Formats: sequence, structure tokens, C-alpha cells
Amino acid sequence: MAGFKTHITTSTTIGVVGALVARFGFGVPDETCVLAGGLCSISGMLPDLDSHSGVPLRESLAFAAAAIPAILARRFERMGMPFETRIMVCMVLYLVIRFGVAKLLKRFTVHRGMFHSIPAALIAGEVTYLVFEHDSPHLRYFIAGAVVVGFMSHLILDEIWSIGVRRGRIYFKSSSGTAIKFWGDSTWGNLSAYTKVLLLTWVVWQDPDWMARWENQRAERRNLAKSRSRERDKVDKSFDVSVDTPPPQASINPAPQPQPVTPSSTLPPYSPDQSIFSPNENPQPVSPLPGYQPPGTNGGFR
Ligand SMILES: [Zn+2]
Repeated sequence: MAGFKTHITTSTTIGVVGALVARFGFGVPDETCVLAGGLCSISGMLPDLDSHSGVPLRESLAFAAAAIPAILARRFERMGMPFETRIMVCMVLYLVIRFGVAKLLKRFTVHRGMFHSIPAALIAGEVTYLVFEHDSPHLRYFIAGAVVVGFMSHLILDEIWSIGVRRGRIYFKSSSGTAIKFWGDSTWGNLSAYTKVLLLTWVVWQDPDWMARWENQRAERRNLAKSRSRERDKVDKSFDVSVDTPPPQASINPAPQPQPVTPSSTLPPYSPDQSIFSPNENPQPVSPLPGYQPPGTNGGFR
């Protein structure tokens, strides 16, 4: 089995050569070539994530935890995610990849299992395609291809290192055939790997349509908001004009003014010396009750 330095040196060399060929042979943008070379270099140690310990697992996960959220930033922006939300999502992604994925790998993988296989290389390429959002599908294929090449360089080196020479004769070690393979000994591992391949292939196939649809919906929402804003502005302006303009002089009959009420009869002038309850005015004689006789007359008891 090739060591870590052999893997990383080989994949880095392939990455640099591939980036130079893409730059000067096919006119691929500089930054894309640099990214592709770097990802090819890192991918050279991806299959050994199933080794559960050592430099490949630690460094690969640390790199993925930092690089994947950064590369996903473009997709988040296209999805219209607010800046603060993007930061939060990137922080969560870092923690999930750095610690959560490490636990999952230790729990569900075995060394030289399906992580060392052709389907695993396809999965790595498809995940890279989905993470690397770009308007040009060719550049997405190029970046994803760089990861697959780096991944495959590891598998090829492992197979080469499984060939030994003893007493002038070539022999194959027990590890031969465990790196470049389509399926392994574990049924569950095979099912899991090919399920991921099929699912990711479908998502890769649908992704451009999904993103286009998402952007169309965003554009429609933006246009609707703009038209509503314009209508509001029109209403506000018309209201301002109606407030500034004086009202038209309409021939409205003025409200009838209250007329002074003329008294129908003139009351006599008030005199404080004369009371309306004056007893001298029209005195009425008070007649005694019938049958009453004052004392001293026959009405007494004496
Ligand atoms: Zn390996």
C-alpha cells in the first residue's frame, strides 16, 4: 500500500500538469485551473478516509470542512440567502463535516471497503459537481473531473503497490484487487454505494433545471415587488397632488343664518319690587271648611 506522501505527491503532480494543460491547451480561466489542481491534489488522499486514523482522515476532513462551505457560497447567493444566514449555514456545515462526518466514517466504513472503489470515485465527482455551482456546465464537469482523477490516482497507486517482486518473480499481494473494484464483499456496502450513485446522478441531472426554476421564481417575486412598489408610489404622488391643490369653488348655498326671534308679546318690564307671587294681586278669599265654626260660637264643646 502506497504511503500518504506517495499519494499526495502523485495527485499533486497530476493536478498541476492537468491545470497547465487546461490553461494553455484549452483556455480555461486561471482561477478555475488553480482550483482544479488543488482539488485534484487533495482528492489523492480521499479514499483513505476509511483508515479511521492518521493524517488522511484528519487533514481531509479539516480541508473539506473549510472548503465545501466556501465553495457553496455561490449557490447560497444564487438561492437568495441573506448574508447572515449564509454565515450561519457555513458555520454549521463546518461543524457537521469536521466532527459529524468523522464519526460516521469511523462507524460505518472499513478500510479497503467501498471507499476504495469506482462507485466511490463517482460519488466524489458528483458531490463536487453539486457543490461547485457555476453558470458554465463545462467548468463544473472540469472541476468534478479533477476530483475523480485525483481519487483514481490513489486507487491506481494502491493497486500498483499490491504487486510485489520476490526472487525475480512478480506476485500479487492479498490487497490486490481491493482498490479498483466495482463492488466489495459486503452486500450492505454495495447497496449503500450504488444507492448513493443513483441518487446523486439523478440530483446532478436535475440540478440545472432546479436552479433555473428557483431563479425564475425569484425574478418573478422581484418583479412583482417592484410593480407593487411603483403602484404605491403612484398612489402616494396622486395623494400629494390632491392635498396641495385647493378645492374647486363650488356654488354651494350658504347655510341659513339664524334669524333673531321676534317675541310675539312683550312682557312687562321686570321690577324687583313686584313679585309675581305678590299676595295683593287678585286675592282670593279662603273659605273655611264646611261645618267648621270658630271657637266661641256654637261649634265649641262648651
Ligand atoms: Zn488507499
